[in-house]
Amino acid sequence: MLDDAGLQALREAARLSPDNLPLRRHLAEQLLAKGYLADAEAEFRAALVLAPKDADITAGLAEAFVRQSAYGAALSALEPFLASPGYPPRLGIIAARALLGEGETGKAAYRYYEAISRDPSVADPELAERLTVATTGLSSPPPPPAAAPPDSSEEEVERSKLTFADVAGMEAVKEALRVKLLLPIQQPELFAAYGKRAGGGVLLYGPPGSGKTHLARAAAGELGAAFVNVGLADILDMYVGSSERNLRATFDLARRNRPCVLFFDEVDALAARRSDMRQAHTRQLVNQFLAELDGVDQHANEGVLVLAATNAPWYIDVAFRRPGRFDQMVFVPPPDAAARAAILRILCRDKPLAEMDFDAVARATEHLVGADLKGVVDRAVEVKLQQSISAGRPIPMSTADLLAAAKGAKPTAVREWLATARNYVLHANESGAWDELMPWIKAKR
Ligand code: ADP
Repeated sequence: MLDDAGLQALREAARLSPDNLPLRRHLAEQLLAKGYLADAEAEFRAALVLAPKDADITAGLAEAFVRQSAYGAALSALEPFLASPGYPPRLGIIAARALLGEGETGKAAYRYYEAISRDPSVADPELAERLTVATTGLSSPPPPPAAAPPDSSEEEVERSKLTFADVAGMEAVKEALRVKLLLPIQQPELFAAYGKRAGGGVLLYGPPGSGKTHLARAAAGELGAAFVNVGLADILDMYVGSSERNLRATFDLARRNRPCVLFFDEVDALAARRSDMRQAHTRQLVNQFLAELDGVDQHANEGVLVLAATNAPWYIDVAFRRPGRFDQMVFVPPPDAAARAAILRILCRDKPLAEMDFDAVARATEHLVGADLKGVVDRAVEVKLQQSISAGRPIPMSTADLLAAAKGAKPTAVREWLATARNYVLHANESGAWDELMPWIKAKR
């Protein structure tokens, strides 16, 4: 499947001497450099088995994950290093890219500036610019870090004010969630009459920034439920036993606050765990997660609706997808033109506006997802604010302002994501698990 003769030869050599670490590493690095991401990932994993604590190999594996949008997996792979002070700064740069991909801009900026303060040669100007735009919307550099990033292992319960009315488009997705999550709680008699039991979680998957978190939050608001938002990479702890405690505490928090939507972001983080050397511990962690999902008895998770999101669904253990667990997978697609116009309309709702042609902006923002569009609106608002301050009166925002802000927008990795998805899915859809995704990867180039 590799169309590069040099790589083929290298791979053949590695196959003949599987324990030759320098060779394996070289092969993995070449694969990564040439963009064979899934193959590179497999080789780095194999190399990591030979040299478990090797920082370069871990960096390569994390890089391969990041470039496949598997940010949670990348963070999880890096975590054993990041937890100890004085870790190699270049690992901090990769972590920053993963955190930025997850929308954790504050933590990303912290990692980045911490890393370059120890080794200026690892600086990445392009990443620095994306961080600046993401954290401030302006071009002043963020302050250097003063303290360690906040520990978010125990998330607060949140009351979401968003409802499905705040989620543009995605009618099919909303309908699926309504049936799965909302109807059993809103109309228990109806479900009981058909002998159906509420339960089981939904796995939301799609490119970064397509609105998975937004949707989960809106589902909580729609239901009038509490919202517990957990970054899974955050609660995976390097010390045996602590992650299990964190998981249990998180489920208990949700159970104490029912009705509750319990949202796990970055579930692919568990997948990176399977590649590391602490196999037994990893299995234990996955089992604990599944046990919590199943509940000790059939009422344990009543009123707790479990949603999970990932950019990299192909990493999710099949055990997660059994009935009663994440038995439904819902694709959150990148928005088409109509959906982009609707998202823009929602994002601009409470701003002073001139006559707007959102369809024109939608046409000019192909390949942008919800998160990118939010960036466009934020930038346009920023400019308008400055102008209003100079003019001493509010100046409404116009179509031209949005178009100007859209010009400088760099899309997050939708195209790359679809290409990665195509690699995984075209050859692995025997079970029909990816049916929803098929039209997208066939249609989009
Ligand atoms: P993901 O979790 O898939 O990475 P997010 O949910 O964080 O993406 O989306 C980022 C932001 O984009 C949201 O906070 C929201 O403001 C905006 N957004 C995304 N999709 C939509 C949508 N369908 N309707 C309205 N806003 C959206």
